[in-house]
Amino acid sequence: TVTMALFTRDLRVHDNPALAAAVQNAEVLPVFVVDETICATDYLNPNKADFLATALADLDEGLRRAGGQLIVRHGDTVGEVCRLVRQYSVDEVHIAEDVSAYSRRREDRLRTQLAESDCRLHVHAGSITVAAPGRLTPSGGSDHFAVFTPYHRRWSRLPVRAPLPVPKGIRLPHGAGSEPIPAATDLGAGSPSPEVAPGGESAGRHLVRDWFGAHIGAYADRHDDLASVATSRFSPYLHFGCLSATELVHRSDPSAPGAAAFVRQLAWRDFHHQMLAARPELTHSDYRNRNDRWHEDTASLTAWRAGQTGYPIVDAGMRQLAAQGWMHNRARMITASFLTKTLYLDWRRGAKHFLALLADGDMANNQLNWQWVAGTGADTRPNRVLNPIRQAERYDPSGAYVRRWIPELAHLRGRDIHQPWRWHTDGIDGYPARIVDHEQAARDFLRVRRG
Ligand code: FAD
Repeated sequence: TVTMALFTRDLRVHDNPALAAAVQNAEVLPVFVVDETICATDYLNPNKADFLATALADLDEGLRRAGGQLIVRHGDTVGEVCRLVRQYSVDEVHIAEDVSAYSRRREDRLRTQLAESDCRLHVHAGSITVAAPGRLTPSGGSDHFAVFTPYHRRWSRLPVRAPLPVPKGIRLPHGAGSEPIPAATDLGAGSPSPEVAPGGESAGRHLVRDWFGAHIGAYADRHDDLASVATSRFSPYLHFGCLSATELVHRSDPSAPGAAAFVRQLAWRDFHHQMLAARPELTHSDYRNRNDRWHEDTASLTAWRAGQTGYPIVDAGMRQLAAQGWMHNRARMITASFLTKTLYLDWRRGAKHFLALLADGDMANNQLNWQWVAGTGADTRPNRVLNPIRQAERYDPSGAYVRRWIPELAHLRGRDIHQPWRWHTDGIDGYPARIVDHEQAARDFLRVRRG
């Protein structure tokens, strides 16, 4: 028999259920299609394109070490797969289960069109998330959890399967050849951010060794500390499946310091994926309608995007995003709360800007975290407004994070940096005055929200 392992966002050879199943007693085509539809959307921003190009080259190397190679095609995924299926008389196609509306339409189209060639589609759950979406449901009949704590309780009790080994002795069908592996510039227009993370499984596994060897122990205490590098930075590797979430849970010794807090974040990831799987429209529609009448204010939106709001902690987060294609989670929460609650601008505008820059930009995690912060999603305290000054004093007490990203303020000492207007009433050269008074804006927001 001839099988196909169709890679999508499971770009790894370790613990890859679709690849492991495809190589059993068969010649195998490991395929990635550079999908013209995906390339034409905002989804593939320059940072993702850069990350993806390296990840594909690295996957090819991993497959070559196992005796195979990556077979790349360009075009419509379903069309290209069907063409290869006919050319090599493929009997089975193996693919990872995914949750977005786009990936589910792709899966349906594949199933229908492959059937016409007598080829079966095998969809592997638990490739992208630890718990397959839909596996856990609350009592009472709903098809998904809408509150994290009970989800996490059930999730924590699930047995975690052992990671699958890297396949050996991959045999390609005779004559199988690849189109060139794309460079970042073939995938999307625009230059990547200067400090975007290097893509690929090898780079991801290097981080993993470091993380479990030296850093996870401090995670519980320091993950909210904006200035230190105390979080794993696994997010783009998890987004593209260069790392397996299951393997990370498996490697986390529950009794070791930091491990429970770290694994809990992977449960958050699964939580958002199961919500999106159940409600694909949540990428753009509110989970809970709060009758918001969002402001239309282009000047404020532009200032927020550019990191020019006059609130140093907000601006530092936005500038980190532009420079690295990544932002610390606490900064994501502060900047998102500022947009949706202080400026009262629609969360979709903020989510779109994040997706235009994040290397880890993810339909489930981005859109649903935005809804969570905006109070239209699963947060049980939807009207909570983060105060940017208190957040800054708590999570950047020395001001080191702001100092790193806002050089105009670097001369300010200690926590003075978080409220420059108090010490420099005439303003600071090169740094804007506040575009809004947070305290007043927060009161206005609460009045509108509470009706
Ligand atoms: P760590 O703290 O080391 O956590 C380990 C992993 O757990 C992360 O890599 C991530 O996969 C997962 N995780 C952590 N926090 C969350 C969370 N709140 N929700 C879901 N999964 C989580 N994460 C993305 O992967 N893609 C996004 O597009 C994204 N957009 C976000 C937008 C907003 C407004 C907010 C508030 C959060 C967003 N997050 C997103 C979640 C979180 O900020 C990032 O996953 C995290 O900052 C990545 O850094 P890390 O890998 O060092 O995380």
